[in-house]
Amino acid sequence: MAERQIYTARLTRTETLSDRADCKHFEFEVEELSNFDFTAGQFVSMLAKNNEKQMTRAYSLASGPRGNNRFDLCLNRVDGGFFSNYLCDMEHGNVVHFHGPHGHFVLKNPLRDSVMIATGTGVAPMRGFVEWLFPLDGGPDRSEGRDIWLVFGTRHESEIYYREYFEEVARKYRNFHYVITLSRPEESWQGRRGYVQEHVKEILESRPEKGKSDMDAYICGLNMMVSANRKQLAEFGWDKKQIVFERYD
Ligand SMILES: Cc1cc2nc3c(=O)[nH]c(=O)nc-3n(C[C@H](O)[C@H](O)[C@H](O)COP(=O)(O)OP(=O)(O)OC[C@H]3O[C@@H](n4cnc5c(N)ncnc54)[C@H](O)[C@@H]3O)c2cc1C
Repeated sequence: MAERQIYTARLTRTETLSDRADCKHFEFEVEELSNFDFTAGQFVSMLAKNNEKQMTRAYSLASGPRGNNRFDLCLNRVDGGFFSNYLCDMEHGNVVHFHGPHGHFVLKNPLRDSVMIATGTGVAPMRGFVEWLFPLDGGPDRSEGRDIWLVFGTRHESEIYYREYFEEVARKYRNFHYVITLSRPEESWQGRRGYVQEHVKEILESRPEKGKSDMDAYICGLNMMVSANRKQLAEFGWDKKQIVFERYD
């Protein structure tokens, strides 16, 4: 088997997305390339040594391909975990090695009306999809007029990652629908409450044949949420081929 190409990513910028959830946005540049080519939704495998042990962890690309050597990640510290803390402790200018891009969590072709379902950092590849479909920088609208819902769930209002960005996309593109739901909202929260699947259900119930013949779903996050949503879609009579998913655990 051919040796895997290992690349070097230099950290250029970070932004705290939520103090409460210890979640950060990361921007990297690939040193060996002028164009890091990938498909929105894929992941990279990050590499680092923990003492002498080689560690590898997957992280979804939180940006779309931009025709340059940059990519973003979105991740939170996991208590007692090695890699998430290693990345969160990196300083600007530091480098980390990786291979990739990898994975099949990508948009289907042809694109149909779709519901993107994410909780927590599962929003990362959805940001990549949205950046690709609905550019804010003057690039072409690639959504082909399809209705695209992003149903994002988290516990608290302070954990709504990239809220301003998605709200801006929704203002600019009438066919992008941004749905936030909180499972443990503060009393002052005026928006939707409960788990993502309850709001997915509402969307499907407003569609002919509950989306069975003309929609796709993209689901990303922890296994329990992914399973609950796959189960619900199966109960609505959806075919497995209509559902693309990525599990983080
Ligand atoms: C394809 C793929 C893409 C991924 N993309 C992302 C991403 O974009 N952002 C991101 O933050 N993570 C992502 N993950 C999860 C990531 O790879 C790591 O599992 C996570 O960062 C924990 O690694 P760690 O070394 O810090 O902890 P570990 O030492 O691996 O784990 C410590 C403990 O935490 C549990 N755990 C693992 N992941 C999580 C989690 N996310 N939340 C809560 N508990 C967890 C483990 O079961 C274990 O018990 C992705 C995983 C996969 C498979």
